[in-house]
Amino acid sequence: MLMPRQVRRSRFIDPFHPTEIRRLVKEFGSPLLIVDCERVRVQLRKLRKALPGVDLHYALKPLPHPAVVRTVTEEGAFLDLATTGEVQLAQRLGVDPKRCIHTHPIKRDQDIRNALEYGVRVFVADNPDEIRKFVPYAERAELLLRVSFRSPGAVCDLSRKFGCDPENAVALARLAAELGIQVRGLSFHVGSQAPDAVKHVEAIEACANLLATARKEKLGVCDTLDIGGGFPIDYMKTAPDIGRFCAPIRSALAKLPKRVRVIAEPGRFIAGPAAIGVASVMGRAQREGHWWYYLDDGLYGSYSGQLYDHARYPVEPLKDSPERLPSVLAGPTCDSIDVIAENLMLPELKAGDLIVGRAMGAYTWASASEFNFFPKATVVAVNQTPGDTGSITPFPL
Ligand SMILES: *Cc1c(COP(=O)(O)O)cnc(C)c1O
Repeated sequence: MLMPRQVRRSRFIDPFHPTEIRRLVKEFGSPLLIVDCERVRVQLRKLRKALPGVDLHYALKPLPHPAVVRTVTEEGAFLDLATTGEVQLAQRLGVDPKRCIHTHPIKRDQDIRNALEYGVRVFVADNPDEIRKFVPYAERAELLLRVSFRSPGAVCDLSRKFGCDPENAVALARLAAELGIQVRGLSFHVGSQAPDAVKHVEAIEACANLLATARKEKLGVCDTLDIGGGFPIDYMKTAPDIGRFCAPIRSALAKLPKRVRVIAEPGRFIAGPAAIGVASVMGRAQREGHWWYYLDDGLYGSYSGQLYDHARYPVEPLKDSPERLPSVLAGPTCDSIDVIAENLMLPELKAGDLIVGRAMGAYTWASASEFNFFPKATVVAVNQTPGDTGSITPFPL
């Protein structure tokens, strides 16, 4: 196990530069997930600019790494916590609980208590049973009611599993009011890696009407609208520029009454572009006219997002050569589905050569397993302090 250590350097480091990648692999081994906290900051600033006036709560789920959480909170962002483990991480890092909301629509009593004891006040619910769980905590908790807007176009449609039908939202607010539980507002998540903002706009407009109805009925303060995540990033296919993507969202939000506080829960957009995966060739074989390269990371590791998250990461060898041969990149396990990419044209590689996967910060390492006892990639977080851009800390901290 790699022990925590701090390496300080005075000059600026671009950890995605080939020289730095080689140096980091030499120092920390392979496979690696290199997280660049400076790129985390850049993503956060881009989204802030695209959504002025919207408070951004980083959703920990795609990359629940202490360095990322610290970076976003130091930049003034808020947090979106969904599990007791995420609550404990925020707590351990000393994040002010007032800056956190708890957004899992389904919780055990103990999960609610853990979050309340930490000091979280705002929770999400989407059905009567879940609202009733808050009766004992009505003095200390308030709710965002999650509304479902189906989004078959999104790569991951998060409104299938969670959220009430818009027609039932006011009835839920009525139930909460009857039980003496404060309804803070509404939330939705139209699905991750959204192709455009059409669903966001539709949901904002529907929620604006629902909030107005609930307020008219005096069913709670109803002054918060949580527009979720879904902001897309470049993979093999490029995504729309975030400023352009958010333009229709900005217009829709501009029509809301001034008292409505708008928040968002970006995950992928903050973490995705901020990390690369680096794997090494363990061995190779020629099969049916193709070079098969077996890497020390694969579909059961950082590339798990290719299964769970339906992502395709741009992969390339670190070394280049004009002569290219038909190649396959496979993961290390003995399972035959563990193939990262086929029909590639790659330079001839040998054991020890490095393969880099881009845009691998979100839903990669977070969902990796240690199947076949191949360890998860070591996470190395670089540029953790803005003024001290060279500091490096491997996980665990
Ligand atoms: C996963 C998740 C997010 C993050 O979504 P992205 O599409 O990665 O931005 C935000 N909120 C909730 C409730 C989630 O489950």
